[in-house]
Amino acid sequence: MPKLSERVGTFTDSVIRRMTRISDEYGAINLSQGFPDFDPPQEIMDALAEAAYKGPHQYSITFGAGNFRQALARKQEKAIGRAIDPETEIVVTCGGTEAMMCAMMTICNPGDKVMVFSPFYENYGADAILSGADPIYIPLVPPAYTFDISLVEEGFKAGAKAIIVCNPSNPCGKVFSREELMAIGELAVKYDAFVVTDEVYEHMVYEPYHHTCMASLPGMYEHTITCNSLSKTYSITGWRLGYLIGPEEVVEAAKKVHDFLTVGAAAPLQEAAVAGLNFPDSYYEDLKKIYTEKRDYFLAGLDRIGLAHNVPQGTYFVLIDIQKFLDLPRFAGCTDLEFCEWMIKNIGVAAVPGSSFFKEEVNHLIRLHFAREKETIDEAISRLGKLQELLS
Ligand code: GLN
Repeated sequence: MPKLSERVGTFTDSVIRRMTRISDEYGAINLSQGFPDFDPPQEIMDALAEAAYKGPHQYSITFGAGNFRQALARKQEKAIGRAIDPETEIVVTCGGTEAMMCAMMTICNPGDKVMVFSPFYENYGADAILSGADPIYIPLVPPAYTFDISLVEEGFKAGAKAIIVCNPSNPCGKVFSREELMAIGELAVKYDAFVVTDEVYEHMVYEPYHHTCMASLPGMYEHTITCNSLSKTYSITGWRLGYLIGPEEVVEAAKKVHDFLTVGAAAPLQEAAVAGLNFPDSYYEDLKKIYTEKRDYFLAGLDRIGLAHNVPQGTYFVLIDIQKFLDLPRFAGCTDLEFCEWMIKNIGVAAVPGSSFFKEEVNHLIRLHFAREKETIDEAISRLGKLQELLS
């Protein structure tokens, strides 16, 4: 067998996606990979049905269909607080995943340093490897997941080309404050670096917290590549519609990277999703209300069955502390991954092991999500309640 690239030996498959496969194999309730179990809005499904008959069925423009980019620009201008030119400042991608990879490949040379907060969404590790970048990890310190801005400055002093900011942050649910973003932004400007943001949970932010777009801060538009997606906002994770927004020179280069990676996102799906992008503000207010209720309901359930957890400020993820179980003789020497596999088979609920998100040695956390119908949450809590029997 001829040798494969050295690159592919340096990272594993996604543990998040692997947990979904194991969960499906055992018929567990899947609270691992974050996606909703409910339908997208009716208007979007109707538009998809219409697109099936009216098209388009052939390629859209490589960097996104014109009407999709126009609708996107109209929606995101509000968040970014300035006009966005749909011709020159947007690239439509296959999900937020491609947007991040495309951003990294657009700005990084092999060996460039990029700062990543830890815990981090596991894709960023592979994004760095595939784009040749060397990550510098900046700890987000629990319980509030705060960070030391002087470490960020050290990273920039060491030559970091960019910093990745997932806001709201997967998996810890942190919502970066305006002040924190300003401090990061000022350093990016001072050291002439980029901020690459992942804002896919922008509409899942719980009171009293609010989402601030890095690109909306004074002087930051020129230094920011905003990566985002429609997956979470419109409950269409399988459609793989994402995008990046940035200054013209960056987007011009990103368009080329995207074109040769994927040519383009699915044309009929872009057409159908325009219906969602044109929703009034009340849609996003309702979405926030729905997820706030789900979060409160899920956390109340966890409290009832005595599972210690963080309280996410945003996203639909919760980190659960499993240390008291790992301390039991039956789990002696057990990793968090093994515990999650045991949980799928014996409790019937799938989670993601925390170690797939942390650079630090962390073995006592697992991540669950609550983008589920109430009945499913009830059943999941009832199954998770059986964990307590282990302690008696
Ligand atoms: N962001 C989601 C998660 O962390 C999954 C996204 C994906 O699998 N592409 O679970």
